[in-house]
Amino acid sequence: MESKTFDVVIIGAGAAGLMAALEIVLTGKSVAVIEAKEKAGGRIFTFHNDDGYPVELGAEFVHGNLPITKELLKKAGIKITPVRGSIWQYKDGRLAEQEDFIDDYSDLEKKFKELSQDIPVAEFLSAHLAGAKYEELRFSLKNYVEGYYAADLNRASTFSLRNELAKSDDEQYRIEGGYLQLVNHLEQRCKENGVQFYFSQAVLQLHWKKSNVEAVTVQNSVRAKKALITVSVGVLQNGGIEFFPALPEKKLAAQNLGFGHVVKTILSFDDAFWKDKELTAGKDLTDLNFLFSMEQIPTWWTQHPKKQAILVGWLGGPRADVFDTVNKENVIQKALYSLSQIFNIDVLQLSQKLKSGQMHNWSADLHFCGAYSYEVVNGKGFMQTVLQPVDGTVYFAGEGLHHGPEIGTVEAALNSGREVAYQLIANF
Ligand SMILES: Cc1cc2nc3c(=O)[nH]c(=O)nc-3n(C[C@H](O)[C@H](O)[C@H](O)COP(=O)(O)OP(=O)(O)OC[C@H]3O[C@@H](n4cnc5c(N)ncnc54)[C@H](O)[C@@H]3O)c2cc1C
Repeated sequence: MESKTFDVVIIGAGAAGLMAALEIVLTGKSVAVIEAKEKAGGRIFTFHNDDGYPVELGAEFVHGNLPITKELLKKAGIKITPVRGSIWQYKDGRLAEQEDFIDDYSDLEKKFKELSQDIPVAEFLSAHLAGAKYEELRFSLKNYVEGYYAADLNRASTFSLRNELAKSDDEQYRIEGGYLQLVNHLEQRCKENGVQFYFSQAVLQLHWKKSNVEAVTVQNSVRAKKALITVSVGVLQNGGIEFFPALPEKKLAAQNLGFGHVVKTILSFDDAFWKDKELTAGKDLTDLNFLFSMEQIPTWWTQHPKKQAILVGWLGGPRADVFDTVNKENVIQKALYSLSQIFNIDVLQLSQKLKSGQMHNWSADLHFCGAYSYEVVNGKGFMQTVLQPVDGTVYFAGEGLHHGPEIGTVEAALNSGREVAYQLIANF
């Protein structure tokens, strides 16, 4: 057992935990961070492929001009590159270019105006966008909500979709050298200021009474005056940490929040075969960015404007939750099969071009139990219940507990970590 009593113990060294640790330690408080994985970052999970190129199995994009992310990138001297290129869809055996993620926005805007109260997106599609006229729009919206939000259409909030689409012309960026650079910067600053890290230790139990907590792992037990829990909403939903005394209202409220599923596949090829016009019926996909389809792995993107011959496959939403990923090679085969359909290329020929394949099923990883949060109808009240500190002693933060529109992002995690850290400091 660690003999020292810290001012604060933080559980989880993802973006929220690191941001909070830094803010708290900078006020002179002693901070311990306990992390289940062997390194920091959580759902920021960059690795280098055989060519040494950084690819992302977790967060990949900076969605717009986000204040905290930009502030940190600037401080760390890390560069970003705008994401550019064309958007395509493969449907009914044909490749066709789209102008944007949602082409028919003006029609949709009118339909949004018909809504006086929030309803699930599935209900919106059937009640407000029925019939052949809107088939294309329903296809794009379903792809967007299941893919981008990783959400269940039967629960996702239409108001939140409306708000998201209204600002979706924001520029997207990638971080040069990978998202992990941001994590390394935060971790280094935490260490320089004396934060004590415990890696490869999952907290199993948190014992608490006013101004006194004990976080118990298999190897260790860390005492502090306050605890900040930054594990994912999925871990809270599944009772990944046992509280003594129990906090059943937190678990129940978390279970009412939306937490989506994603299987992400990264395939590195010998050459960027999608630029070969013979495979695309003469269509020019040289600047391909995103491609949407109805295949088993439906959404694909490139690293454009970077030249790497990499395709990222994405399966999001409820289908990802039930997708069999026990055998990685099977998933890679399914991904190749999806591409072989889209590009009308023999799957064997495609496998011969494959240099390496990676896959991560975030729902099957017990330290996450899913990918990221999305807004459900009337979800704010449940979020508030989870956020409410317990007896000025146990606090909660993380991407899914962020009030703003960036829920489900790194920015949301940073924001939540910082905001709850301020609240916790003020309560000492
Ligand atoms: C596939 C995927 C793609 C994404 N794409 C993007 C994107 O392009 N842009 C974007 O902005 N965001 C994206 N996100 C979302 C973004 O990654 C997250 O919102 C953000 O990283 C969450 O940070 P967090 O600190 O709230 O949680 P986490 O990163 O989950 O951190 C929580 C930490 O707690 C640890 N933990 C869990 N249980 C325990 C325990 N019992 N004891 C100790 N430690 C524990 C976990 O290991 C983890 O490190 C993506 C996420 C995924 C999964």
